[in-house]
Amino acid sequence: MRECFELRDADAGGRIGELTVPRADVTVETPALLPVINPNLDTISPRRLAEEFGAEILITNSYIIYGTEDVREAALEDGLHELFDFPGAIMTDSGSFQLAEYGEIDVTTEEILDFQYRIGSDIATPVDIPTPPDVSREQAEDELATTQERLEIAETVDTGEMLVNAPVQGSTYPDLRKDAGRHAAETDLDVFPVGAVVPLMNDYRYDDMIDAVAGAKRGLGADAPVHLFGAGHPMMFALAVAMGCDLFDSAAYALYARDDRYLTVRGTRHLEDLEYLPCSCPVCTENDPDDLRALEDKPREKELAAHNLHVTFEEIRRIKQAIRAGNLLELVEQRARAHPTMLDGYRTLLDHADQLERSDPVSKGAFFYTSHESARRPEVLRHHQRLDRLAVPDSLFLTEGDSDSERYDESWRVQPPFGPFPRALSKSYPLTAEVPERTDRSALEAAADGVARLVETNPETEFALGHRGWPADVLERIPDGVDLVDLSGESG
Ligand SMILES: [Zn+2]
Repeated sequence: MRECFELRDADAGGRIGELTVPRADVTVETPALLPVINPNLDTISPRRLAEEFGAEILITNSYIIYGTEDVREAALEDGLHELFDFPGAIMTDSGSFQLAEYGEIDVTTEEILDFQYRIGSDIATPVDIPTPPDVSREQAEDELATTQERLEIAETVDTGEMLVNAPVQGSTYPDLRKDAGRHAAETDLDVFPVGAVVPLMNDYRYDDMIDAVAGAKRGLGADAPVHLFGAGHPMMFALAVAMGCDLFDSAAYALYARDDRYLTVRGTRHLEDLEYLPCSCPVCTENDPDDLRALEDKPREKELAAHNLHVTFEEIRRIKQAIRAGNLLELVEQRARAHPTMLDGYRTLLDHADQLERSDPVSKGAFFYTSHESARRPEVLRHHQRLDRLAVPDSLFLTEGDSDSERYDESWRVQPPFGPFPRALSKSYPLTAEVPERTDRSALEAAADGVARLVETNPETEFALGHRGWPADVLERIPDGVDLVDLSGESG
């Protein structure tokens, strides 16, 4: 277990954790949002972020501080906490994005970490190479090697109580992300940003983003705190949390406000297009869209930034509550309906159901089957795996109906999407699931796969399946030799 990070609760790949930040003498509850502060712009003051929005941690860019003389002198003299008047933890980014965009700057890893230490950063970042998506494998490997050399140098720098980030790169190669994650986790560095995913999110490539995170997580292991670097839109937080991301940073709240854009958990709206404000934050209860449109540029930007932050923090709280209640995947399903690309992200998340299954609690409140994707949830996978370990008699009737058959030694219940189980298990999670009366094909297919798995694991047993009118192509998934009984005429 990493000393600075403790897990408190889990749901799918998501978790509630505690990140201890010794230099700031604070503990940050995760999932957490780090508002991005640009020291040269005063959209919403850090003090207000702490007091009004409950921000426990923020992030600022050490490269901007380094390059702005008066800010640099003040930061060196008084420290970032006094400069910003912020009581929580402060993370600094090295500015590798600026490096990538504007060319090399002439500082070493030791120097950039030392500078972050001297300005009073609580969590510092070495200069890594943020390899963009879709580059050649050679480029991704070469740049990853450079990032890894710098992490090894960073490990040797004396940073006192300051935590240090170990960015995980690897472009759109999940196996490189995994190697990068494993290498980063083997250093004694503390927090693990999954880097260079912003271009993916800007292009709505949530599927590729999930694959990148899943790859990194396979290398990092469960106990590493993971930061989805540059991810600030509340629409995708639930999805990313479900894949195991713990920290998010939002520049979006301020950048979008500058363009009159209004964030919602279902996407972004332009102030110009809004006839109503679909939100209950102080900004939206005290104004209507015309009030906001009538404001001067600066005050309008501040009001929109405040609204954007309110919805962003609200979503983080909603996600934490969903993890506590064990219904995070139901929340992800709702969010997935906001945009087809989010649905791609959710479907990709379910491609990693085996990875999610490892951290998913064995028992939760209730399983709600709310879309055909629910048939691919980790609970269904786990039930299918459990079938291999159940003892079966010489002959077994598997049935969706209520009545047993005299001909067989035992009768087990069959319930889509899980498939068969002994009646004694019917009160245990997830078999207590709430499933719609109008079962869909994915649920039937998953149930048929469960039946097939049980039959194939027990070749000596004689099986029969009582089903309520399953379509022929679903029944094709059942192995030969199973006696099929259509119960659709039967009542109840
Ligand atoms: Zn609002």
